[in-house]
Amino acid sequence: MTIHFINGFTCKTFFPYHWECGTIEMLIETNDGLILVDTGLGTDDYMHHSGIINLFRAIMYVPLDPKEAAIKQIVRLGYKPEDVHHIILTHMHFDHCGGLPDFPWAKVHLYRKEFEAFTGRRRQFSDIAYVQRHISHGPDWVFYEDTGEKWFDFNAIRLPFTPEMWLIPLAGHTRGLCGVAIKTPEHWLFQTSDAAAIFNEKVPDWFITMALSRQHSRVKQFAREHPDIQVVGGHAWLNWFMDHKNA
Ligand SMILES: [Zn+2]
Repeated sequence: MTIHFINGFTCKTFFPYHWECGTIEMLIETNDGLILVDTGLGTDDYMHHSGIINLFRAIMYVPLDPKEAAIKQIVRLGYKPEDVHHIILTHMHFDHCGGLPDFPWAKVHLYRKEFEAFTGRRRQFSDIAYVQRHISHGPDWVFYEDTGEKWFDFNAIRLPFTPEMWLIPLAGHTRGLCGVAIKTPEHWLFQTSDAAAIFNEKVPDWFITMALSRQHSRVKQFAREHPDIQVVGGHAWLNWFMDHKNA
């Protein structure tokens, strides 16, 4: 079983000078084809910049290299795009789900509360990162509700895949954001997405909690208490991707 880490959206800050980070997607080999966890930007995003991409470009350097589209990276890794049978979304911000239109045949697995936040009334500032056209092709949805199950002490929803995988609701950054826990042969891998900034030792925790998610401290604490679990966030410094091609 192989899990690839892919960077699906590079940003570099103007100030502080040149903090370079990318969005973490995961490509997982399973008996039921490939599973992609988050898509990064899609090929159309590079040609038609959404308002939120233009906002990002106004405040930082965004290279927008079309080679970063998941569909292109999957081919470079030696796979066929049609082998992506399933996409699991942590949340529906543009930098996590923009690639959906590139995989119209895939089943898209999503926590129902996130779909409701995306399609409902705008209620919090971070809702500006939802781009409606990302689902205008009509994805083949599979929605999930709370079941009362647990993964460690987190509420959790079992996904129908082998290896064992769980959706972990971590509302805050968006109303329906979920982490994804995957049982690899060696350990648990916990992708917490934008619920936490795991690798960010440059910005104080109180600021991340305010700017990103109220879940940040809880996730960081969990990572500290479980050094045997590989915990990754939604974004990482570019040099992290150099050191972590696979889980
Ligand atoms: Zn986000």
